[in-house]
Amino acid sequence: MNHSIPIWDSAAECQAREPLQRLQLKRLQQTLKLVADNVPCYQNKFSECGFKPGDLHSLADVDKLPFTTKEDLRLNYPYGMFAVPLREVVRIHSSSGTTGKPTVVGYTREDIRTWTELVARFMTAAGVTNEDIVHIAFGYGLFTGAFGLHYGSEAIGASVIPISGGNTDKQLMIMQDYRSTALVCTPSYALTLADRMEKQGIKPSDLALRVGLFGAEPWSEQMRHELEQRLQIIATDNYGLSEVMGPGVAGECLCKQGMHIAEDHFLAEVIDPDSGQVLPEGSVGELVLTSLTKQAFPMIRYRTRDITRLRYDRCECGRTLARMEKTRGRSDDMLIIKGVNVFPTQIEEVLFQIEGCEPHYQLIVDRENNQDRLEVQVEVNEKIFFDEMKQQRTFIFEAEKKLHSVLGLSVKVKLVEPSSITRHEGKACRVFDRRQ
Ligand SMILES: [Zn+2]
Repeated sequence: MNHSIPIWDSAAECQAREPLQRLQLKRLQQTLKLVADNVPCYQNKFSECGFKPGDLHSLADVDKLPFTTKEDLRLNYPYGMFAVPLREVVRIHSSSGTTGKPTVVGYTREDIRTWTELVARFMTAAGVTNEDIVHIAFGYGLFTGAFGLHYGSEAIGASVIPISGGNTDKQLMIMQDYRSTALVCTPSYALTLADRMEKQGIKPSDLALRVGLFGAEPWSEQMRHELEQRLQIIATDNYGLSEVMGPGVAGECLCKQGMHIAEDHFLAEVIDPDSGQVLPEGSVGELVLTSLTKQAFPMIRYRTRDITRLRYDRCECGRTLARMEKTRGRSDDMLIIKGVNVFPTQIEEVLFQIEGCEPHYQLIVDRENNQDRLEVQVEVNEKIFFDEMKQQRTFIFEAEKKLHSVLGLSVKVKLVEPSSITRHEGKACRVFDRRQ
């Protein structure tokens, strides 16, 4: 590991555990007082469980606090969870709700400053400097992704191209002409860009790209490998969600062994998604986050639904902040098929290992004779698709065998024509559950 790679805020990112935990406790106590004084939803939750903000004396007491869920945000739509008057709010964003009303979140001037700092941290950790030209292909709008990365890039001193989402051909033209060096988008859109490049005969060497900052959806190590090979870049992961702040909650350093969490601003726990119990260190479970410094929209034990694992061992980069593994998916995306838990990212990992398999797939879940049935539709290259039946059968047999050994479940694999699965410019939509 090259130690000459800069750290944005080494006082915060490389501090010892003990002062960090003292800081977390102090900030947690302040946050609890803020919500108890100003947010009726928390006043009710605290009184229901008999908790008073003054009762919390150690970080271990955090499990006495109630959770906050997406449903709480929905019930308090639009401004009910804000802890400051609207005149102190300088920005409003909203989460991409798949059903019903979206979630509204707000930021004070200080919140925007913190957010900017935390994005600058992970972008620096990914190797972005003031020499870079950052190509932001996230959609600009209510979604937090584009603005978060935009402000962080400017803080670093990089040159920002706010191209926004969509229009793949134009993206590629600008990338070539303006010499973009850092690409910001979802991993699935990066793949769409790679496909289009191939179709148009644009080689990675025709571009100046050297690093990708990919987020906003779960993606596998195999997908990373694919993107690094095809775009000839370093592909890094980062994590955040609008309900908690947006991007900047955690991000990878160049060791690519988990995303450092901004623990001085967020307290992270892992719980059993069914029982709500805090799990022992090193367990896989649902990530729960408490904001420690947010003013406009503080969150106490927000259930992210993202499945991951935390690690506290020392990272080679020198940062001491705990790391979270790449998310394995959302507990909402987890499919239960014949009683077996299946995440789309598990299937993705298997598919990427098979020769001739294109990285585009979708999952169809159905019920047949009262039995769950999972069909994996996958694109294969033209050679296999248009080749003799024998080769196709061999491919299907191999894919089904590998999926069975990883998932412990028999799965039907269906080959589909190259480019027949819909490409998405934002988050990929890969699961179609037809059982309801
Ligand atoms: Zn590190």
